[in-house]
Amino acid sequence: MKHNLLGMSLEELEAFFISIKEKSFRSKQVFQWIHQKGESDFHKMTNLSKDLQSKLSELCMIEAPEILYEKDSVDGTRKWVLSVGDGDLVEMVLIPEGKRATLCVSSQVGCAVDCSFCATGKQGFSRNLSTSEIIGQLWVAENSFGYPREHSDKKVTNIVMMGMGEPLLNFEAVTSAMKLMMHDKAYGLSKRKVTLSTSGLVPLIDKLSEVTDAALTISLHAPNDRLRDELVPINKKYPIDELLESVKRYVSKCGDKRKTTIEYILINQVNDSLENAEELSNLLRTLPCKINLIPFNPFPGSSYKRPSSMRVQTFKKKLQKEGYITTIRTTRGEDIMAACGQLVGKVNDRTRRKERSKKDPARIQTKSL
Ligand code: SAH
Ligand code: SF4
Repeated sequence: MKHNLLGMSLEELEAFFISIKEKSFRSKQVFQWIHQKGESDFHKMTNLSKDLQSKLSELCMIEAPEILYEKDSVDGTRKWVLSVGDGDLVEMVLIPEGKRATLCVSSQVGCAVDCSFCATGKQGFSRNLSTSEIIGQLWVAENSFGYPREHSDKKVTNIVMMGMGEPLLNFEAVTSAMKLMMHDKAYGLSKRKVTLSTSGLVPLIDKLSEVTDAALTISLHAPNDRLRDELVPINKKYPIDELLESVKRYVSKCGDKRKTTIEYILINQVNDSLENAEELSNLLRTLPCKINLIPFNPFPGSSYKRPSSMRVQTFKKKLQKEGYITTIRTTRGEDIMAACGQLVGKVNDRTRRKERSKKDPARIQTKSL
């Protein structure tokens, strides 16, 4: 089996080059070929000797997930369905907005957290993605702009770990991929342009603060535990007050006057009343944050409804009146089922059956806790 170099950190690549009796500085050249030029053919790495090109071709590969298909929305959003083997599929979405191009990256095949409003959660969990499968999504998206990359003026400018999966439940692979996203010899994105979104695994938020100071988004969705238990079942294990304390610790560790973003999905007649808005504003009073409201995106089989724009506006205005910077996330790519919560890919059926039998959120694997 050939070594896949795509998910290796620069240090791992250096160690690998030393192990095959090559000079370690070569690893930096290969690292840049992979991540800055998008090259996967060692024979095209022109600053390496012909001998080294052949040796690397024999021993290694640079392999990203395979594109099964891509679809463009009328609004310019592009969705890719990627195969990661064994019938498992994941989706990623590119959202262009003026000079920005935000890539929404998946971290797992399916998701075990099973939020009641989320299509990904409803399909069950199959497996974690590897570092190469996560960074491979960015690699594929960047290569889609044209090859060689320097001939294209387009770039992914922002990453959100908001595709399929709960990123903190795949801690090592996700944080390693985020380091590659931010590495100046790789994609060089700043810490404010790489965002991890989580349903709120408290000990892992603390652990995250030890390895990165990337932007953090919390999927709160409810102003009290009774409602949140219903919508985001992991809340039974990590209730709201513990969650917000861990977020405060994260933000204060980042220093730089950082604010976190609170995501709040608005579901008609479930969590979108004026009382809910008032309760939310009281709850967040001491947290440095802004609020992003996401009108519910429907998917087949869900009985929830999106509120009218009047209800959405009323909720927003209440929060603004209370002094919160509040935005409404415009829905993008709905016609190609690429909007938040509509990503399903495909979970291998065998594992899905197995996983759905252990739906109790307290049993979610938190190996690294
Ligand atoms: N698991 C992580 C990241 C992936 S979900 C998390 O939950 O934060 C990314 C975002 O999409 C979350 O804020 C999630 O709550 C939101 N989302 C999920 N289902 C949705 C739906 N049906 N409509 C709108 N947003 C949804
Ligand atoms: Fe998982 Fe996030 Fe969907 Fe909840 S919203 S089921 S945590 S992907």
